[in-house]
Amino acid sequence: MTLPLTPVIAFRPALRQSTPVEKVLKLRRVIQWTMTAVVLLIGVQFSLWVMPHLAGRWPSVSRPPGVESFLPIDAMLGLRHLIHEGTVDAIHPAGLAIFIGICLMSVVVAKSFCSYLCPVGLLSELLGRLGIRLVGRTLTPPRWLDIPLRGLKFLLFGFFAWAVWYAMSPREVEAFLASPYARVVDAKMWLFFADPTRLTIAVLGILVVGSIFVRDLWCRYLCPYGALVGLLGRFAPLKVTRDPEICTDCHSCTDVCPARLQVHTMQRVASIECTSCQDCVVACPVESCLVVRPPKPLGRRVWLRPVTATLVAVGLYLVVIVGFQAAGHWHTSITEEEYHRRLQELDSPLYTHVGGTAMTEEVPKR
Ligand code: SF4
Ligand code: SF4
Ligand code: SF4
Repeated sequence: MTLPLTPVIAFRPALRQSTPVEKVLKLRRVIQWTMTAVVLLIGVQFSLWVMPHLAGRWPSVSRPPGVESFLPIDAMLGLRHLIHEGTVDAIHPAGLAIFIGICLMSVVVAKSFCSYLCPVGLLSELLGRLGIRLVGRTLTPPRWLDIPLRGLKFLLFGFFAWAVWYAMSPREVEAFLASPYARVVDAKMWLFFADPTRLTIAVLGILVVGSIFVRDLWCRYLCPYGALVGLLGRFAPLKVTRDPEICTDCHSCTDVCPARLQVHTMQRVASIECTSCQDCVVACPVESCLVVRPPKPLGRRVWLRPVTATLVAVGLYLVVIVGFQAAGHWHTSITEEEYHRRLQELDSPLYTHVGGTAMTEEVPKR
C-alpha cells in the first residue's frame, strides 16, 4: 500500500544578513558541530583503545570516559543507584554525569538537548536538508498515521523506564551494575557497530535513507531518549512564547518549525515535540514577538536576548559535567589490567545478560 504523503515544511531561503536574532542560529550550529566533533573524537579514541585490548595488545591511548554517553540505560540504572544508595556508580560515572546534564538542560530549556548537543539530531537535520535538495520537499505521513507513530518512542521509553524503575528491585540493579556484562558493555556496544549484523546494517540503512525523505524519522517517531527529554521539557520554565498583541499572523514561524507545530496559534509552545531550536524565533519578522522565556519574564531585556536560552541550556550541561569531574566522579574504577583480561574473553557467556539479569561473579568490592 502506498501511503499518502504530503509536504509540510517549506524551508526559508538562506539568511541574507546576520541580525542579532540570527546569531542564535549560528551559535546553535557552532555548538552542534563542536559537540559532533567531540563525539567523533571520542569514538576514534575509544576504537584505538579497545581494538588492541581485543587483540591482546596494550593500547597507546587511554579509554575516553565520554564514551559512556552511549550507554543511556546504564546511566538510568546509575541514577537509580544514586537515588537509592546515595553514591555515584564507580563503573560508569561519566555516563551518569552526561545523563543528568542532558536531563537538566532539557527540563530547564524545553528538550534543548535535541537541538543543541545531540549529534544524531544534527545528522537528522542534514539528511532532511539533503532530501529538500534532492526532491524539493520533505514528507510527513498524514495526521492519522503521524500521531500513533509518534507514540512509538514513548512506548520504547516506557519499556526501558518500566524495566529500570519498576521491574528490577534495588538488589537486582546493584547486581546488574556490578556484573561482568556491565563492566564491558562499552566494548560490547562498540562491537555492535564495528561488526554489524546484516539486520543492523539494514535497519540503519532504512533509518538513514528514510530520514532523507521523512524529516526526523528517527527523532520524531522512534528515539526513546527524545521521548524522555520531551517529557522533561513539559516542566521547563523556558519555552518558546508568542506575544499575540504584536503577532501579525504571518505564519513564518509555523512554516519553518521542524517539529511541524502550529506556532502562530500558540501563546506558549508546550508541545513535547518542541526542541527549543529557535528556528521560529529567527524566522519571525516582528522583533521580540517570539522568544524563549519563563511564563513571566523576570527582566525583560535579559530574557529577550535570543542567545540567553542557548547559553543557559549548554551552560547547565557543562556545569554538571565539570561538577562531576571536580568531585572525582568521571573516570571508571576499572583498571586497565582488568579491561585487558576481560576484553580478550568477551565471547564468554559471562558477558551476557537475559532480560536484565546478567551473569555474576566475584568482583572487587565497588
Ligand atoms: S530525538 Fe533522540 S536522536 Fe533525535 S536529537 Fe533528540 S535525543 Fe538525539
Ligand atoms: S516551535 Fe520553534 S523552537 Fe520549537 S521546534 Fe518549532 S521552530 Fe523549534
Ligand atoms: S512569525 Fe512571528 S509574527 Fe509571524 S505568525 Fe509567527 S509569531 Fe506571529
